[in-house]
Amino acid sequence: MNVAVVGTGYVGLVTGVSLSDIGHTVTCIDIDNEKILKMQQGISPIYEPGLSGMMIKNINEGRLYFTSDHKQGFESAEVIYIAVGTPEREDGSANLSFVEQVAKDIASHAIRDTVVVTKSTVPVGTNDKIQSIIDKNLMYPVNIEVISNPEFLKEGSAIYDSFNGDRIVIGSNSEEAASTIEEINKPFGVPVFKTDIKSAEMIKYASNAFLATKISFINEISNICERLGANVEDVANGMGLDKRIGDKFLNAGIGYGGSCFPKDTKALIQIAGNVEYDFELLKGVVRVNQKQQGLLLEKLSERIPDLKGKRIAVLGLAFKPNTDDMREAASLVVTEELINVGVEVVAYDPIAMDNARRILNDKVQYADSVEEAVSGSDATLILTEWDEVRNVNIGVFKSMNYPLIIDGRNCFALEQMKDNNIEYHSVGRPSVS
Ligand code: NAD
Repeated sequence: MNVAVVGTGYVGLVTGVSLSDIGHTVTCIDIDNEKILKMQQGISPIYEPGLSGMMIKNINEGRLYFTSDHKQGFESAEVIYIAVGTPEREDGSANLSFVEQVAKDIASHAIRDTVVVTKSTVPVGTNDKIQSIIDKNLMYPVNIEVISNPEFLKEGSAIYDSFNGDRIVIGSNSEEAASTIEEINKPFGVPVFKTDIKSAEMIKYASNAFLATKISFINEISNICERLGANVEDVANGMGLDKRIGDKFLNAGIGYGGSCFPKDTKALIQIAGNVEYDFELLKGVVRVNQKQQGLLLEKLSERIPDLKGKRIAVLGLAFKPNTDDMREAASLVVTEELINVGVEVVAYDPIAMDNARRILNDKVQYADSVEEAVSGSDATLILTEWDEVRNVNIGVFKSMNYPLIIDGRNCFALEQMKDNNIEYHSVGRPSVS
């Protein structure tokens, strides 16, 4: 089929590239002309395992195109995906201005009957709004059917997830439009769950809120474990053996970040508030997450009360491994706090350094390797559980002024640290000194 994808961020680009890989002819559209020029040359603006190779392959095979011209992009499209951002407004609600603009663009340029698929995460009722914006502004006598198809990919494994996802959710008022989208996705071989539009919109928020709840829950348990001398890793493993609980998303740490959980939890609190419902549990989840991000500095200050002028290594800047995404990364909060107390921060991340430089500028020093970052430092903080960090030769920590590690992601076994005489404080596990 001929498909247009509007927005070429993590979701739009992965969607466009994956759809082209299963045989569709895809035109990706973005208002960022610089990005479009890059992608036309086969250069991916984001890091995502497997994305770049698949993108180049499908450009070369004539199935994948990029343009900043909506009219041109919509010309032959039978299906248009909306994958633009829905960032957080100051009050926590979702900013729908980008989605609404795309609805107007579709109304201006659609010249054939089209199924419009909303991939962006949007509050319940938004697809009805998109439908009415399009219907009110249509330039040509065509039929546009808007459906909800929320995205569940995980940054860091987004391409893998497109082909191996747990489910594709389709929310539609039209059986025909839903079947079209089911058919488009068939080669992925991912199970399809069909429902009405509002339920599909809610499935997305409820899923993210539930996952965030699991994280905040285990983080609370980890804080209690620390005080009682229990080991949260064993606790989580023991809990996870119960199939009703499951063993995923029970890793204690310094909280969730990224472009989705923080904004989607707050948006759902707003969505509930709009219908006079106080989502108390989710408010607690958000509060716990904010508190948890302060944990490392708390532990560091306990060990080194006067941090002024100390050199501290920070390993990992991306909000999670295998991505260069820095949005709402814990590293932003932690480095800011360190800088405020006069610390000299030396940071290293395997992939996110360029994005980090754009945000943190010269407030921190940037190292080219784990070794360079930790060498001569007074303490090392671990913020992202990259394999490169997990698998580092422990001997490198001997080049620190004093081997003190505060690990926000529980990357190392306690025995390993004990055997190497490293002072090691992690999350929810006994300290090694
Ligand atoms: P992003 O910010 O990375 O990308 C959005 C892109 O849309 C940008 O490139 C921007 O230039 C472009 N854009 C904005 N207005 C446009 C317009 N009128 N026409 C064409 N392009 C336009 O966003 P993202 O992370 O890909 O997220 C997109 C949506 O998907 C959001 O609603 C998000 O909540 C949801 N989502 C994201 C993820 C994720 O892991 N990033 C996962 C699931 C769902």
